[in-house]
Amino acid sequence: MSEAGSYCVEGEIGIVTIDNPPVNSLGLRTRRAIQEGFNRFAADSSVKAIVLICGGRTFFAGADISEFGQPPVAPDLHDILRLIENSAKPVVAAIHGTALGGGYELSLVCHYRIAVPSAMVGLPEVSLGLLPGAGGTQRLPRIVGVPAALDIITGGKPIKAKKALELGMIDSLADEGKLREDAISFARHILADGKPMMRVSDRNEKLIEAKASADIFEEYLKRNARAFRGFKAPGHIVRAIQAAVDTAPDFDAGMAREMELFLELEASPESLAQRYYFFAERETVKVPDIGKDVGTLPVKSVGVIGAGTMGGGITMNFLNVGIPVVLAEMSQEALDRGIGIVRRNYENSAKKGRMTAERVEQLMALITPAIGLEALREVDLVIEAVFEQMSVKKEIFSKLDGICKPGTILASNTSFLDLDEIAAATGRPDHVVGMHFFSPANVMRLLEVVRGEKTSKEVINTAMKLGKSIGKVPVLSRVCWGFIANRIMAARAVQANELILEGPTPQDVDKAIYDYGFAMGPFQMNDLVGLDVIGRDDVERSVSGDLVKLDRLGQKKNGGYYDYDENRKASPSPVAAQVIADFAQYKGIENKGPQSDEAIVARLLYPVVNEGAKLLEEGIAIRASDIDVAAILGYNWPVYTGGPMFWADTIGLQKVVDGLNALGIPPATLLVEKAQNGDRFTTP
Ligand code: NAD
Repeated sequence: MSEAGSYCVEGEIGIVTIDNPPVNSLGLRTRRAIQEGFNRFAADSSVKAIVLICGGRTFFAGADISEFGQPPVAPDLHDILRLIENSAKPVVAAIHGTALGGGYELSLVCHYRIAVPSAMVGLPEVSLGLLPGAGGTQRLPRIVGVPAALDIITGGKPIKAKKALELGMIDSLADEGKLREDAISFARHILADGKPMMRVSDRNEKLIEAKASADIFEEYLKRNARAFRGFKAPGHIVRAIQAAVDTAPDFDAGMAREMELFLELEASPESLAQRYYFFAERETVKVPDIGKDVGTLPVKSVGVIGAGTMGGGITMNFLNVGIPVVLAEMSQEALDRGIGIVRRNYENSAKKGRMTAERVEQLMALITPAIGLEALREVDLVIEAVFEQMSVKKEIFSKLDGICKPGTILASNTSFLDLDEIAAATGRPDHVVGMHFFSPANVMRLLEVVRGEKTSKEVINTAMKLGKSIGKVPVLSRVCWGFIANRIMAARAVQANELILEGPTPQDVDKAIYDYGFAMGPFQMNDLVGLDVIGRDDVERSVSGDLVKLDRLGQKKNGGYYDYDENRKASPSPVAAQVIADFAQYKGIENKGPQSDEAIVARLLYPVVNEGAKLLEEGIAIRASDIDVAAILGYNWPVYTGGPMFWADTIGLQKVVDGLNALGIPPATLLVEKAQNGDRFTTP
C-alpha cells in the first residue's frame, strides 16, 4: 500500500490500482503510487502481466494544475511514462470515466488499452492552443494511422469508447461495471497468445505507410485552412505528426521535435489567450454576493411565450434535457409554424444520424402547445420571447403575474429593453429576471442572465444554474441598454457605419475585420441578417435605410452592401457605393480615401474595449473576463485573441487610450486609470 495506490496479484496478473481523489490527477502522490506498484511487480517473478486501473470516478486526469510553475519533483511525469513503457511485462490500461490529454497519453505508454463503453478518450490540448506534449503526437499516429491522428488531435473532441475501438485508440471494450475482471482476462489472453510484446513507440508500420503519400500534410492544411485560420496550434500539431513520419523509426527524434513545437505553442500569444479563456468560461458562474447559502428554486416545467425565431430555439434547450415546455402563441398558425421548425431541426439531426426517429418523437411529445397564456398557470418558469416592444412585454408580464402560481419565475428574452420597467408591471419584481439567449438559441452557448434592481438572489442563482444545466455559459449582467454583448458590439457597428462615409469601402472594413479573425465583417453580417431587420428607428436616415428604400434587403433580396450572384457569391456593389456617396454628401462628410487594415481595426474595436471599460465602471458586468466570454460566445470574437479586454491588455492599454483620443472618442475613466497605473483588466 502507498497513500494513493494498492497492489494485488491474481494468478499471473499484478494489478496496480490508483485512487487519488477527486480525479486521479498525475500529481506527485499519484506518480509515487504508480512507481511503487511497477517496481514491486517488476521484482515479483510470479507476475507476468500488469493491469493499471483507477479507483474513483475516472481514469487519470491530466497533470496536477497545482504543480504548474513549480520546480519538478522526481519522479516526474516523464520518469513514470518511461517506467511503464519500458516494463518488461505487458501493461494493460483499464479505462473508465475519461482519459483525456495527459491521461490518454499515459494510456499510450501502456502496451494495451481496454475501456468500458461509457468511457471517453481523447487529446483536447488544441482547445488550449497547445499540442499533447507527452508523446501524444508521436504515439497516436502509430496506432490509428496518420489521417485519423490528424483529425483526432487537431479536432480535440472527446471520443466515446465504441468509436475509439473502431479507430484503434483502444484495443478492447469491457462490459460496463466489469472493467477490472475484463482487464484481467484480457491480460491473461495476451499471455496465453504468447504474442511478442510491442511498445507503441516501436510500432512503425502505419508511419512507413504514410511516408509513401508525401503531400498528405500540405493537403490536410489546405483542406482545413478555413477552420484553422488564425489558430497556431493546429498547424503545429500537423508538423508534429509529420515529424513522427519523417523521423520514424527514430522515436526519440520525433519526441524532440514534439517538445520543440510544444514549447513554441506554450509561449505563443494565441495559447496564452486560449488558456485565459478556458478559465474565463468557468469563472462566469461565480457571483460575488451569491454564496453557497443561497438556494435555487425547482424548475421542473417551463413555459415559453412566442414561437418565433427565438422561442423555438429556447424551447429546444429544455426539451433536450427532458424538461417539458408549454409553448404559447397568439394564433394557431404561428404556433404550428414554430413547432414545425422545432420538429424540422430535430429531424435534420436524425437524418445526420445524431439521434433516432424515436428520440425525435420523445422530444416533441414534451411540448404542450397553447394559445394564450392560461396554460402557463402551473409552470415553474416562463420565458417571454415576443416582439421587442415595451408595451407588449408589460401587458404580458402583468397578465402572467395574475395567471401564474406564486413562486413562478418570470423571465424575459429582451435584447435591449429595461427589465426593471417590465418587472414593475408585476407584483413580483423579485421573481423577474432576464434570460437573454443568442440566435440560433438552440446552438449559441451564451446566455446573459439579467439581474434587475429587485431580482432575488435565489432567482438569479436559479437562472445561472439552470443555464449551465442546459449547456449554456451564463454571464450575469445588470440592466442597461443592450446588456453586455449587444452593447459592446453596437459600439463597433456605430464606427463601421461612420467609417464607410469617410473613404474606406464596406469591402475594406469587412476585410480588415475578417483578417483580425472574425468569421465575417459587419457589412457581410448586415447583408446576411437582412437590412430590413437591422433597421434603426432612432435615426431618420441611414445608409441601410436608404438601401432598403431601393428594395435592397441583403442576401435575401436584390443584394445590400454587396451584390450577389445566383450562388450567393458577393461582389462589390456600384449601387451601394453610390448610396454611400450620396449619404456622405447629405451628411457633409468628405471622402479622405482608403485606410490601412490596422487603422480600421483600431477604429472599430478600440471603442468596443472602451464600452467594456464602461460596463465595469457602471457595475453592469462583474469582471472583465465575463465581457470577453460574452464577445467570444455571442459574437464569435476570435478566441485566440482572448476577447476584447484580454486583447487590449495584450496590445497595451495606453495604446488603446491614445488611439481613442486620436479618433476623438473620450476614453472611459477606468481605462485611463488602468493605463496610467500600468494595470490590466484581465489576469492571464
Ligand atoms: P419573432 O418575431 O421571430 O417572434 C415573436 C413571436 O412572438 C411571434 O411568433 C409572435 O406571434 C409571438 N407573439 C407576439 N405577441 C404574443 C403574445 N401576446 N402572446 C403569444 N405570442 C406572441 O421575434 P424573435 O426574433 O424571436 O424575438 C423575440 C424576442 O427575443 C425579442 O424580445 C427580441 O429582442 C429577443 N431576441 C431576439 C434575437 C434574434 O436574433 N432574433 C436574439 C436575442 C433576443
